[in-house]
Amino acid sequence: MNGVNASSWSAEKRSEVMGAVRSAGNVRTELRFIRFAREFGFVGWRRHQNLAGKPDFIFRREKLALFVDGCFWHGCPRCYRRPSINRKYWDHKVSRNRVRDREVNRVLRRTGWSVVRIWECQLRRHAWPLIARRVRRQLGKRVRN
Ligand SMILES: [Zn+2]
Repeated sequence: MNGVNASSWSAEKRSEVMGAVRSAGNVRTELRFIRFAREFGFVGWRRHQNLAGKPDFIFRREKLALFVDGCFWHGCPRCYRRPSINRKYWDHKVSRNRVRDREVNRVLRRTGWSVVRIWECQLRRHAWPLIARRVRRQLGKRVRN
């Protein structure tokens, strides 16, 4: 196997592995959100909407888009650990994701949506009250206006 093949195989393998990690993460995120929403009485939310940036959850009536950003993929200040290999690759990927997040926020806001982004780690129970306050504040704004 020459150098070119080896590196293309590993990129493919890498994306396959990361794809699997990502989809397992999505299921966990969804289950946590469902419990969270139930506990705090948030109703009227939907999943997997075809909006800019594909928000994880939306409240359609109040036009609130909620994203749960993966701590690794989006560079959470608490959890992100720089991988020890392929650092350049990962630095680039994470910073590109963050730029894209901001673009998505802008696009949504321009079209009348409000946006809440929370970190994946904040879907753990101890952070629920904090998240609930943020979501409630945004929903409240929308209902009054
Ligand atoms: Zn985190």
